[in-house]
Amino acid sequence: MAKIETIRHSLAHILALTVKEIYPNVKLGIGPAIKNGFYYDFDFKENISEEDLSKIEKRMKKVIKENISFKKEKISKKKVKELFKKEPYKLELIEKMKEITIYKSGDLVDLCAGPHIKSAKEINPKGFKLTKIAGAYWKGNEKNPMLTRIYGVAFKTKKELDQHLKTQTKAEKRDHRKLGQRLELFSINEEVGAGLPLWHPKGAILRHIIENYLYQELNFQDYQWVWTPHIGKLNLWKTSGHWDFYRENMYSPIKIDGEQYLLKPMNCPFHIKIYQSKIRSYKDLPLKFAELGTVYRYEKSGVLHGLTRVRGFTQDDAHIFCTPDQLSKELVLILKYGLKILKTFGFKDYEIYLSTRPKKSMGTEKMWKKATNSLKYACKKLKLKYQIDPEGGVFYGPKIDIKIKDSLGRLWQLSTFQIDFNLPKAFNVFYIDQKGKKKEPIMVHRALLGSLERFIGILIEHYAGAFPLWLAPEQIWIIPVGSRHKKYARDVQCRTLHSGLRVEIKEENETVSKKIREGEIQKIPYILVVGDKEIKEKSVRIRKRGKGDIGTIKLDKFIKKIKKELEDKK
Ligand SMILES: [Zn+2]
Ligand SMILES: [Zn+2]
Repeated sequence: MAKIETIRHSLAHILALTVKEIYPNVKLGIGPAIKNGFYYDFDFKENISEEDLSKIEKRMKKVIKENISFKKEKISKKKVKELFKKEPYKLELIEKMKEITIYKSGDLVDLCAGPHIKSAKEINPKGFKLTKIAGAYWKGNEKNPMLTRIYGVAFKTKKELDQHLKTQTKAEKRDHRKLGQRLELFSINEEVGAGLPLWHPKGAILRHIIENYLYQELNFQDYQWVWTPHIGKLNLWKTSGHWDFYRENMYSPIKIDGEQYLLKPMNCPFHIKIYQSKIRSYKDLPLKFAELGTVYRYEKSGVLHGLTRVRGFTQDDAHIFCTPDQLSKELVLILKYGLKILKTFGFKDYEIYLSTRPKKSMGTEKMWKKATNSLKYACKKLKLKYQIDPEGGVFYGPKIDIKIKDSLGRLWQLSTFQIDFNLPKAFNVFYIDQKGKKKEPIMVHRALLGSLERFIGILIEHYAGAFPLWLAPEQIWIIPVGSRHKKYARDVQCRTLHSGLRVEIKEENETVSKKIREGEIQKIPYILVVGDKEIKEKSVRIRKRGKGDIGTIKLDKFIKKIKKELEDKK
C-alpha cells in the first residue's frame, strides 16, 4: 500500500484536476503534501468561498471512483513550455528546472517529480476532506500575486480522519494566537513587522518565570551563563559554514565602518570565541556555556504563525566542550536533566529520535560510530526507548531529537542535542591533554525548549491558557464584597505578596459575580472573595479555577497551602 504522504500528494493532483474541470479559467500554482494533508494554490478568475468546497470535494470523490491512473513522463524543456503555455506560474517554475518530469492523471498534466500512487483506487474516498481556503502569496513572497490556497486533510481510514477533525476542533479553541490576545500575553503588530512578537506585561512575566527556572536548573548542572551580541562580523559565519549552507535563512549583511556584519542566526561562533579567550587544559573540561540567545532567521511570510513560527526568537542554547572520553557521561546528564525540565512544564510523554550518519557528511566512520554509540549509551543508561532515524543526522554529526506530546496528543519537536565534528575543526578549537599535546574537543549543541517563543506558544495550547500556579502570570485575585471590605482586601494582598505570590485586588465598580466571571475568563487559579464573615474570621472564601467555590479557609492556612503548591510546581 502506498505511503500516506504519497496519497496526500496524489490528492493534491486530483484537487487540481477537479478545480480545473469546474473552473476552466483557473491558473495552477503548486500543490504539495503537508502534515496531515495537502494543499493546492490556484489563481481563480471568479470569487470562490468555503461554501464551494463541498461541491469540489464531491466531484473529487467521483474522480477517485473512476479510478484514474497516474503516469510519469520525462519531457524536454521545449515540449513542456508548449504544454504549459497558458499556465504562467508553471512556466516560471520550468525556467529554473533542469530535468523535467510530468505526471498525467485523468485530464490533468502537472509538473511533478513524484512519487505518486499508481491509480486512484489506492485512496480511501472516505478518508479525506477539504478543510479551508486561505490567501497565499505565490512562492510565499508578498511582492508576488496573492493566490487562493485550498487545504485538505487525508488519512488512510475514516476513523483516523474523524479523530483528526475532532482534535482540530479542540485545537482551534486553544489556538495560542487567540488566547494570547484574550489573556493579554503578546501581540504581533503590522507596524512593527511580521514574525516579531511583542511581549505584553503578563506574557513577559510568564517568560521571566521560565527564564528564571532555567537559570536555576542549569546552575545546578554546572553550566556557566554567557551573553553575546546580536550582530557579529560576517566572517564568523563564513568560517562556521553557515553562510554557505543557510544563507537563504539569514538576513542581508549590515555595513559598519566598511566591514560586513550579520544579525546572528545562531550563537555558536560567539561561544567558541569565549572558549578560545584562553588556553584550556583537559582539567578545565567539560566546559558548558549557556545563553538565552536571541537569533534572527528569515522565514517566508506565508509560514509565519503566531509565536510558533517567527523571525526573531530566543534559543535556550548551550554548547558543551568535552574530551571524547567524557562524551557519554555528559550526554547522560543532558538527557536526564532535560527530561526532568520538560516534565516540570507538564510534558511527560515524548518520543526520542536518534539520527545517524547521512550520505553527505564530514568526519571519519570511526568518529561517527563512537559518537552515535555515546548517544545510544545515554538512552540505554536512562532506560529510554528511542527510534533510529537512519541517515537523518546533520552533515557535521549525529543527534538526538525529542518530540513532546501535548494534552491533545500532538507531537512537537522541542529538544535537540547535536554532536559537532565540524566547528571545532573550522575554528581550530583545542585543549591541552595530559601529555601537553593539543587535542580537538568534542562540541555538543544543545537546546532544550528550542525557542522561548515557540515553547510558550505550545505551552499556551497545552494548558489552554489555564497555567499551573507557578506559571500563571496572575495567581490570585481578591474581590472585596463592598467598599468597607477594601481595607481587609489590602491586608490579604499584603500578606500574599510577601509570600512571593502575584496578587491583584479587583476594586472596580462592578458586581462580585461579574468580577468572578472575568477572573474565570482570565483563567486565574485562585479568586478570593472577602466580606464581613471573612474579616471576622481572618479568613478568605476561595474560588478555585475549574472547581468553583470550595469554601472558607483561615488566611494563614491558605497561604501555607498555596506556597506548597507553588514549590511543587504542579
Ligand atoms: Zn505531484
Ligand atoms: Zn550551536
